[in-house]
Amino acid sequence: MGELRYNPVTKKWALISPERGTHRNSYVTKDAITSMPCPFCDKDGGINKKLRSIFTINLPESSAPALIVTPNKYPAMGIEGSLNRHAYGIYDNTASIGAHEVIIDSFRHGIDISGYTEDELSNLYTAFKCRIADLEKDIRFRYTAAFKNIGAKAGENIHHPHAQILAMPVVPTIVEEYMIKAADYYKEKERCIYCDIIGQEKQYKERIIFENYEFIAFAPYASEHPFEISIYPKQHEHCFTNISEGSIRQLADITHEIFRRLSQVLGSPALTLALRLAPYKNNRPDYRGYMQYIKDAFHWHIDIRPVVAKLTTSSWAANICINPVSPEDAAKHLREVNQL
Ligand SMILES: [Zn+2]
Ligand SMILES: [Zn+2]
Repeated sequence: MGELRYNPVTKKWALISPERGTHRNSYVTKDAITSMPCPFCDKDGGINKKLRSIFTINLPESSAPALIVTPNKYPAMGIEGSLNRHAYGIYDNTASIGAHEVIIDSFRHGIDISGYTEDELSNLYTAFKCRIADLEKDIRFRYTAAFKNIGAKAGENIHHPHAQILAMPVVPTIVEEYMIKAADYYKEKERCIYCDIIGQEKQYKERIIFENYEFIAFAPYASEHPFEISIYPKQHEHCFTNISEGSIRQLADITHEIFRRLSQVLGSPALTLALRLAPYKNNRPDYRGYMQYIKDAFHWHIDIRPVVAKLTTSSWAANICINPVSPEDAAKHLREVNQL
């Protein structure tokens, strides 16, 4: 079992998980990954019948699954046990109790972002909603990360479409910082900073890529990486799990459109899609005083980060990201992709 270690200087948690290093695909190249037997497919290319399902969505008018959620075979956190919070000298330490689940959101092995259908994306968001809501019932968990890596360069280590959910007993520092900043903005202006960003982007228009009835996709003003994209619901909503079936269809529609445009402009790049969520409200002692503002101050959203360029200067060493593509240029390229 791994452990969570708290850095008293940066005030960040690190998950030390030696078991993950034994994952056979942890250190292999893309070519090696594509040639390995797929754990989600049978030898004949059908669905692996031995997969343990926590949650399933079937194909329309069929008993065959379109999506399965299964426990991660190499979990970064284990579901059994107690947190065992303790001090280790000046350091804080807790057992890495959590849930690490894999969402197999398509049984079409090896598809890239250009291959996803709106139905598959809709199923993915439905699974995110149901699993995040279910994991909230476990009072040990304070936050759930939900994300999808596509392509080995984005960290995908199985060449079969999948997403991941990681429920954890701590709130990552970066998430707390976002909550505190949103709460501070709300306390000062009595407005949601994300709603204000939407208003600003709609006024300037130059970074907007695509809109549908309920969602807007744009290149963030201070993008740290080339072709970074955010998708916001236009109506204020702090809680992703409140999303309706109709809104999930709209979210799938805009994601599908963004994938299509990225695929045309960048040639199906590897990317990471991350759901930006608030901490679980009921499970969190409000030490830092932001939870009471979340309903008004936070606005769930999605960030997409394609892997498209190697930076010439190490952003890690320099402590600042150097982005060689302006968000205005990125948005222009993506906006001008011809409609099918
Ligand atoms: Zn497969
Ligand atoms: Zn808002």
